Amino acid sequence: MTCPDLRAELTRLHLELPRNGLVTWTSGNISARHGELMVIKPSGVTFEDLTPDSMVVTDLHANVVEGAFSPSSDTATHAYIYRHLPHVGGIVHTHSPYATAWAANAREIPCVLTAMADEFGGPIPCGEFALIGGEEIGAEVVRVLRGHRSPAIILKNHGVFTIGSTPRAALKAAVMCEDVARTVFLACQLGNVQRIAQEHIDRLYDRYQGVYGQRPGTLTPGKGTA
Ligand SMILES: [Zn+2]
Repeated sequence: MTCPDLRAELTRLHLELPRNGLVTWTSGNISARHGELMVIKPSGVTFEDLTPDSMVVTDLHANVVEGAFSPSSDTATHAYIYRHLPHVGGIVHTHSPYATAWAANAREIPCVLTAMADEFGGPIPCGEFALIGGEEIGAEVVRVLRGHRSPAIILKNHGVFTIGSTPRAALKAAVMCEDVARTVFLACQLGNVQRIAQEHIDRLYDRYQGVYGQRPGTLTPGKGTA
């Protein structure tokens, strides 16, 4: 069996989607790059029923290489992103409710929280409408995120895609995206949200991406950072 460790990790990471309120029923999926291949959720399987064996391995043109199930209906999108963004090692897709509410309005999420400047380096962009099934969504994700600081994009009338150097990093971006989408939505109910000046966004982003957190090898398992 190809890449058993990656299959096991993806199975664990998928359980974080319902745990964080990002998905309903079988919607939402995570994939990981494995050289010239990728591992992705099988289509239509509930998160509780996922096992390492059930994960599907495809090439980067969405052709199944290994697996008893059909791959996620978003496989062509994931494959397109891996082919065109070589630094991406993991991708997450959800229809998480607050972020998708912004998508239904075709509005980017403005950068009005320091946590957004830290993680996304500015607003979370909103891409154009694209049909599911082929490579249109992948092309739109790549068009918007290539050269962009944000690891997250909301797609008009659809939902969220996040990218990362690892599937865990992409998952973190998906969780953070929904969190800030909710807070900024609530803030908008109170009146006019206040955007952070670009120079402050730049300083926050540089600090967070450069020096925040623990030095490699010093993080105690089980202890998060705050
Ligand atoms: Zn979707």
